[in-house]
Amino acid sequence: MPVLVTPRKIEDTTVREFSMLIDGEWVGGAEGRTLERVAPGHGVVVSRYQQAGAADAERAIRAARKAFDEGAWPRMTASERSGILLKAATLIEERLDEISYLDAVEAGKPITQVKGEIGGAADIWRYAAALARDLHGESYNTLGDGTLGVVLREAIGVVSIITPWNFPFLIVSQKLPFALAAGCTCVVKPSELTSGSTLVLGEILIEAGVPAGVVNILVGTGPEVGAPMTTHPAVDMISFTGSTGVGKLTMANAAQTLKKVSLELGGKNPQIVFPDANIDEFVDAAVFGAWFNAGECCNAGSRLILHKSIADDVVARVAQLSSAVKVGDPLDPTTQVGAIITPQHLEKISGYVSGAAAGGANIAYGGSAIDFGMGQFMAPTILDKVTPDMAVAREEVFGPVLSVLTFETTEEAIRIANAIDYGLSAGVWSRDFDTCLTVGRKVRAGTVWMNTFMDGAAELPFGGYRQSGLGRELGRHAVEDYTETKTLNMHIGARTG
Ligand code: NAD
Repeated sequence: MPVLVTPRKIEDTTVREFSMLIDGEWVGGAEGRTLERVAPGHGVVVSRYQQAGAADAERAIRAARKAFDEGAWPRMTASERSGILLKAATLIEERLDEISYLDAVEAGKPITQVKGEIGGAADIWRYAAALARDLHGESYNTLGDGTLGVVLREAIGVVSIITPWNFPFLIVSQKLPFALAAGCTCVVKPSELTSGSTLVLGEILIEAGVPAGVVNILVGTGPEVGAPMTTHPAVDMISFTGSTGVGKLTMANAAQTLKKVSLELGGKNPQIVFPDANIDEFVDAAVFGAWFNAGECCNAGSRLILHKSIADDVVARVAQLSSAVKVGDPLDPTTQVGAIITPQHLEKISGYVSGAAAGGANIAYGGSAIDFGMGQFMAPTILDKVTPDMAVAREEVFGPVLSVLTFETTEEAIRIANAIDYGLSAGVWSRDFDTCLTVGRKVRAGTVWMNTFMDGAAELPFGGYRQSGLGRELGRHAVEDYTETKTLNMHIGARTG
């Protein structure tokens, strides 16, 4: 078993009350409903949000439309918008402890981990501020004497931003600053389970100088609020992060009015390990990659594909290092693995483990829920002797469950790695750079790490192949994603011929 950190009762028993942000005002929902969030690590209500319905979604979309069509934001200079994004980054850092606390209690994430995420989010806001000033088109004076071609980049318009619960503040920070940098206006819907930190972001943006109606934030369920945000004719683009199932629905909804879509979806990410790899470094990365964020991570390294000759040794070493991992109280600064988001999700994870065991997999480590008498937790779990056809080898468990498969030839490793519907990320481990590059180029994934795992930077594009998504976030083209291209084709001088 891992090291257990028994959750202590939350000292601050205040239930935080949140309103929604529509057209620059903090308001309640038209129907007067509220939603409560029970902390997954502590089992008590920590937040109460005003809940939006269809009428509120309509108001927020209209406000964003008006702010785009008539407001100052799209017409400001890039320098002015950039200045406001920079101020937002500073304010995020100033409120880092408060934002981290909210994500830790609402999502059950370890507090020390979240502080790193929020610092990373502030850095992304700064990066977007820099890109804002570099957004530009092209010109062509090579089309003949009488012609000048100019290619403009224009803000695409109103963007619906829909985010999941696993990285509440970080994921909205991978979308919103770039949309704002381009001059877009937005309606944002965080997960109804973890909306608090996004609402704090709304306060920050108003303080930083974002005008009324430019950013609207709704708390509500997917079917009631998310769905109209994906079908409404006044919305021009949808930027969605979440499950592949809802991503497909979002794309189908977007097709009704041909909106642009950007989709960041699920993953089932392989780590392929060759016998010549630095096994010490790999074991460390495997433990981090599998248990980080309790495995509730699109990028989780949830499939180990090990060369047969090293498999038993590697599994034993990953299990041994896992026994030093601290699981429990999200608010304890030493905790490394926090709570599972809901009791229903814990049941789903447990079902995957028992299904795999019934199908012939061996539980090499963990395997069960941990009962602290409050909240819900799962022991990091290693499933050995997994075969590529098992559900646990193909489907996203989204919990601390590691599946171990083996290979004998390089071709077989690549085949197993690619034999799933997802293609978000992958790891390749070998001291031979040729092996890393050969395998890395053949694995169908948006990011391939070589002799490392889950490192990232605002400069590096992130997104998936196949059913892991559509489009890329971050990177130097991130602002362009929120633009339309317009060609100005100009005739100069007297027309002849
Ligand atoms: P989810 O798909 O259930 O929900 C995501 C968001 O969509 C939430 O805000 C939800 O309310 C909303 N939603 C639900 N139904 C909707 C509908 N009919 N119309 C519009 N919106 C709707 O996902 P989740 O459980 O919150 O998050 C976990 C999933 O997110 C995992 O599959 C994970 O891999 C994925 N994810 C992907 C990335 C990435 O960058 N690729 C990052 C984080 C999470």
